[in-house]
Amino acid sequence: MKTSLDKEEKGAGPADRKSGGPGSALSRRRFLAGSAAMIAMGMAGIPPVRSGPGVPRREASFCSGPGGGAVQCLLCPHSCTIPPGGRGKCGVRENVDGSLYSLVYGRPCSMHLDPIEKKPFFHVMPGTSAFSLSTVGCNMTCRFCQNWQISRAKPEDIEAGYAGPDEIVERALSVSAGSIAFTYGEPVVFFEYMYDIACAAREKGLRSLVVTNGYCSIEAIKKLCGRVDAVKIDLKAFDDAYYKRICGGSLKPVLDSLVEVRKAGVWLEIVYLVVPTLNDGRGEIGAMSRWIISELGPDVPVHFSRFFPQYRLTNLPPTPVSSLEAARKICIGEGARYVYIGNAALAEAESTYCHACGRMIISRKGHMVTGTEMSGGKCNHCGAVIPGIWREGKG
Ligand code: SF4
Repeated sequence: MKTSLDKEEKGAGPADRKSGGPGSALSRRRFLAGSAAMIAMGMAGIPPVRSGPGVPRREASFCSGPGGGAVQCLLCPHSCTIPPGGRGKCGVRENVDGSLYSLVYGRPCSMHLDPIEKKPFFHVMPGTSAFSLSTVGCNMTCRFCQNWQISRAKPEDIEAGYAGPDEIVERALSVSAGSIAFTYGEPVVFFEYMYDIACAAREKGLRSLVVTNGYCSIEAIKKLCGRVDAVKIDLKAFDDAYYKRICGGSLKPVLDSLVEVRKAGVWLEIVYLVVPTLNDGRGEIGAMSRWIISELGPDVPVHFSRFFPQYRLTNLPPTPVSSLEAARKICIGEGARYVYIGNAALAEAESTYCHACGRMIISRKGHMVTGTEMSGGKCNHCGAVIPGIWREGKG
């Protein structure tokens, strides 16, 4: 039986940058049919997930009861007040008889074994594979979403099935993954599931990685940081109006999340999707770079990613390579030590250079690591300590 982890499909999962990238344009129907089949049949050498009656539903965390049968969800800055029988903006948290429930706990819609570079994490165990999963749902509405088939789907679009946290960890171990990544859709909206998997993974010595828009309450970010090893946040612009108009969110909570993750000592990387005419101004890139240096420090890797027209933003061309190179130059000029360009097949800008001696220490081509000049987290040429997580194992 062909499964989602068969060799030819490794690394062919949904996109991780949720934006940009020349991803295939699956129809919604075809995608959902594939997701349902994936859940029904399980993966290489592992029994299928359970489905049907008996699938547990999970009461949600981070909520309060304002009265009148309504509940308020406090998981993300939307702070939705949800009437009985209603759902929040993300579409996956429902008020059932005055209590808030997650409708996606234990219900992954997509599972793949991906190169960790695809997330992208460039300073976390290079060359290893991440067991990557998502449920449906998202708390933003980005017009350029690359994974809209997941982010915009409703729980009932996916055939019911159940894979609990221990089962996910067993699946990851059985395919020799170096980590588990919560990605593709928006892991904030399946917080309870992600958190429980991260706890189970840590017990088994597996690291957990979060690929998120960072649109999350500080309370939830703090709790998460106690259990995960690395977080990649999409900083979609350095302009609140852009967040509101293009993404259905706001800038400040994302900046707060970036600061909180850094403060917690959890490894952090940033992706900035450069969208022509919308967020590619030199002033904006410069201001963002200065903010990163002053609030997060020079060691946080910044990935400038190439936009490709898709979903509801098809009237713009792909980002010119010159814009990406200009953004990288500005960011380096402001003091950032590790600045990359993604989705553009520029090997030179995908490789890692020692901040102390400037020599190449990790060479990459696409999502492949083609060479390393590091040992024990240090540059082989000058011995400088390179920031990141360089070994597998318990976080
Ligand atoms: S997680 Fe969902 S229900 Fe909760 S506040 Fe955010 S959008 Fe609303």
